[in-house]
Amino acid sequence: MDARLEAIRDTVLARNPGEAEFHQAVTEVFESLGPVHDRHPEFLEGAVLERLCEPERQIIFRVPWTDDSGRVQINRGFRVEFNSALGPYKGGLRFHPSVYLGIVKFLGFEQIFKNALTGMPIGGGKGGSDFDPRGRSDAEVMRFCQSFMTELYRHIGEYTDVPAGDIGVGGREIGYLFGQYKRITNRYESGVLTGKGISWGGSLVRPEATGFGTVIFIEEMLKTRGSSFDGQRVVVSGSGNVATNAVAKAQALGATVVACSDSSGYIVDEAGIDVALLRQIKEVERGRLKDYSLRRSGVAYVEAGSVWDVDATVALPCATQNELDGGAAARLVRNGLLAVGEGANMPSTREAVAVFQDAGVLFAPGKAANAGGVATSALEMQQNASRDSWSFEHTEQRLTDIMVGIHDLCAQTADEYGEPGNYVLGANIGGFVKVADAMLAQGLI
Ligand code: GLU
Repeated sequence: MDARLEAIRDTVLARNPGEAEFHQAVTEVFESLGPVHDRHPEFLEGAVLERLCEPERQIIFRVPWTDDSGRVQINRGFRVEFNSALGPYKGGLRFHPSVYLGIVKFLGFEQIFKNALTGMPIGGGKGGSDFDPRGRSDAEVMRFCQSFMTELYRHIGEYTDVPAGDIGVGGREIGYLFGQYKRITNRYESGVLTGKGISWGGSLVRPEATGFGTVIFIEEMLKTRGSSFDGQRVVVSGSGNVATNAVAKAQALGATVVACSDSSGYIVDEAGIDVALLRQIKEVERGRLKDYSLRRSGVAYVEAGSVWDVDATVALPCATQNELDGGAAARLVRNGLLAVGEGANMPSTREAVAVFQDAGVLFAPGKAANAGGVATSALEMQQNASRDSWSFEHTEQRLTDIMVGIHDLCAQTADEYGEPGNYVLGANIGGFVKVADAMLAQGLI
């Protein structure tokens, strides 16, 4: 890392103790940014990096609610409003027991660059709670969401901060959150949340957008090597919204997706995953992947172990942060890997990324490859602002154009900085320059 940046990075780490994932995200971005500061001394003079690493505002709050047996439960809520240089804070809410400030800050920090890459007018933010929706009834989830919004509503708004979903927050949760926001404010403010239901202000393609977008990005990346998804053997991790839609899109482009996973194990289906069955089990029944193997012949279910033991030419980590480590990366490379596309946020450890890059594997970092979700959220905001709703085809075309645009920006930036094919460098510099320019133009903010 550039010595000037390393000194700033060390101060950030010392100032934010115990936030390992935030430290990782900051370090990974700083490693790319040395050459930009040679060309743009004004970024150092204006202390852009120091400012960028300090969120504009951080909100931590109590979320009290009662469970179905009448017992009082207390969770912690977070919203980190990281950077509004390019637009209102934008980013999802994550409900998962692992959520603490370090996770929210790593996600919010990544979101700044991701959102900048989309070219849409959105700043970066993230939030969530350590609430675990697993095993909770609809009524419990509703009471939790209502309590969460009873504090959050005062901090958000269509021109201020626009939350959406992430792990543990889908259409059901957005519905409860939106209903409570409307009730407290007495405003039908469609643009305050994205990921809404289609009959009440949502956008077609938003549910599919992250997974679809990841595959569209990887298709562009494969083209640079004269290849495509057609005929590839793909392994996906996860089986939630991002993973399911990545499976669907990869198979629509001619790939065979042979494996996916959940937190208990993974399935291997050599015939290619049956997307309708997967959706039925995960989305409709909110069930476990094990059920998939019980309902379809020729499927192996492996409890424990790692889905990355399955050989693939394309790997799409779509589960969660740091799920793919250096050892798994080395195994995938030995087994003939061609490309990796991160559908999740920071799923590969820094060691894994180094293994892929050293082996000449095409590697698309999450802040570029999974930007289709938030980009389509920005399209939802556009439709809300004009009280319009677009067709599936039109919206998907807009998503495709945005993903191809992000790919080309990353590839061109990597070329320009003398590292062709380095999408990590391209994404970090491409996103950073837009934000840094806007911050300097807006004065000392
Ligand atoms: N949580 C998603 C992400 O990581 C989507 C955020 C949004 O749509 O605002 O980008």
